Amino acid sequence: MTGNATTPETVLILLGPPGAGKGTQARMLEEDFGLVQLSTGDLLRAAVAAGTEAGKAAKAVMEAGGLVSDEIVIAILRDRMAAPDVARGIILDGFPRTAGQAEALDKLLAEAGTRVTAAVSLEVDDAAMVERVAGRYTCANCGEGYHDSFKQPAVAGICDKCGGTAFKRRADDNAETVQARLTAYHDQTAPLIAYYERQGVLRRLDAMGAIAEIRAALARIVSTVAA
Ligand SMILES: [Zn+2]
Repeated sequence: MTGNATTPETVLILLGPPGAGKGTQARMLEEDFGLVQLSTGDLLRAAVAAGTEAGKAAKAVMEAGGLVSDEIVIAILRDRMAAPDVARGIILDGFPRTAGQAEALDKLLAEAGTRVTAAVSLEVDDAAMVERVAGRYTCANCGEGYHDSFKQPAVAGICDKCGGTAFKRRADDNAETVQARLTAYHDQTAPLIAYYERQGVLRRLDAMGAIAEIRAALARIVSTVAA
């Protein structure tokens, strides 16, 4: 039933809350190793646009206001993995989200003759994350970015760039909202982390470090297994 599926050499799952730098790291892994990032949102849109069988099924569900089932997402992933560009490997972002989805993914990978190489959890310090995001504000006139703790204007209340005196904050950049996002992430992801820990493929990386350090740590994970 697999047809001529391509077998990816590396299957990397990236886990991390918003702000942990998943997108940045995924792009660097594409550059460094020729991996292909498969984001479920993009895959879904592409399948609907291409009018594949799974895409048509997804479209019907979405038009009825429903949630696309795991079966449909897996079917779309299976179609995508038949393309030869995934031979070096794939990075999954946004899927799986539950232990049930992780099991379905394992079955699909087994069909393709492979398995999850590593599930990398980009770990953040919640308090530091809240400070980082909640302290952000910008000049209302020119958009220059500032931060309560890390980058105040040279003269208090006056924009360094344009001399403007009005500043604004995004409504969702407040401590409560950021903490709520992080708590929701931890609650949702805990079973998934436990699942991959049991399989022995979980790798925890400190995502509060420098981007270059995280990149190097990811490179070590990929090259250890892809050799
Ligand atoms: Zn300004």
